[in-house]
Amino acid sequence: MAEEYSAFDQAQREFDKVADMMELDPSFRAVLREPSRALLVNVPVRMDDGSIKTYPGYRVQHNTACGPAKGGVRYALDVNLDEVKALSMWMTWKCSLAGIPYGGGKGGIEVDVHDLSNMELERLSRRYFSEIQAIIGPNKDIPAPDMNTDGQVMAWFMDSYSMNTGHTTLGVVTGKPLSLGGSEGRHEATGRGVAISALNAMKKKEIDPKGATVVVQGFGNVGYWAAVILHEAGCRIIGLSDYYGGIYNADGLNPADAKERAMCEEDSVCNLLPGKKISNDELLALECDVLCPCALQNQLTKENAVNVKTKIISEGANGPTTLEADQIFNDKGILVIPDFLANAGGVIVSYFEWVQGLQFFFWDEDEVNKKLAQLMNRNMDRVYDLAVEKKISMRDAAYWFAIDRVAKATKWRGIYP
Ligand code: GLU
Repeated sequence: MAEEYSAFDQAQREFDKVADMMELDPSFRAVLREPSRALLVNVPVRMDDGSIKTYPGYRVQHNTACGPAKGGVRYALDVNLDEVKALSMWMTWKCSLAGIPYGGGKGGIEVDVHDLSNMELERLSRRYFSEIQAIIGPNKDIPAPDMNTDGQVMAWFMDSYSMNTGHTTLGVVTGKPLSLGGSEGRHEATGRGVAISALNAMKKKEIDPKGATVVVQGFGNVGYWAAVILHEAGCRIIGLSDYYGGIYNADGLNPADAKERAMCEEDSVCNLLPGKKISNDELLALECDVLCPCALQNQLTKENAVNVKTKIISEGANGPTTLEADQIFNDKGILVIPDFLANAGGVIVSYFEWVQGLQFFFWDEDEVNKKLAQLMNRNMDRVYDLAVEKKISMRDAAYWFAIDRVAKATKWRGIYP
């Protein structure tokens, strides 16, 4: 019988695998494999009809050796402590690998946002943030958007914190609206990072981006921007897909022609763009130079990995490739850019937003995009070089790099007292 692992078991297994390879000192291993702090809150909300409902909420800080905790807050019915612990641990590795001065954190509320009016959502958000405020702050822990939270929720968070402390504090959250201390380029940042990583990999594989064939699975914010930026770089986007199905066109598609689909999800990309309608399985099996899985987790599995005919995979989604599929891709010589390397653009521009907010000095979009490209390319080069040097997969090399930095920071700081 197949064993069932929880998200946090999975996060620890991934960590243990690379900690073994690195021969990590057992005392650091014990520190790094558990979150350093987890806060559970019970959030009471007065509903529009006058009744009171309560919602369980969480904020977990996995590690703060490299700086304040950083990571999103998600609103979803299936959020639980185990998942938030796992997500906070993955944020530690993502920030460490990105080379930005943060540890990892994550938060969540067990709620179906569709059940709430806008006013109820505002009261829930403000009360949750006040409940976790003891461990939050621009130098302590800086939340951001995640599933079902957006710039409006970040504005309520920021305002609640500012009202409670008596002064406006822009640096307490990132992903804020532009008119409220948000950063230029934040909205597109994750997709842009996926595209930058793919372009970097093309260079390593000596593939000319002009005319290179690209398939993007998923047409949300990440997939849309990855496709647009690769299209602008001269690539031929031959396959796109969304929740409803996929579309194939050997002559190339212009993703920007289906912008309304990406923005409001009203019509399928298959109906908005010209081409042959295909299934999700057919899309993933298209012969191409670059495949960007930007939809959900567990899309590339041991069942369909054998059919994949690409040279590069740039993972926009979290966990789109199972460990078995990853092994198959490595055996086939496909260059896989793992999720926490390829999709770090969001948290990197969050870092830029935080820096700008702390200085009350804001940069233009070109400057943000230039700095994002510099960091993404540096990180990709480092991981690639380590993978080649140690003869390991890109995913293991990324973990190695990330864990090593946090372990070194912990060693330098020592254990207090
Ligand atoms: N929720 C996003 C992530 O998981 C963004 C986190 C952030 O910007 O702090 O990467």
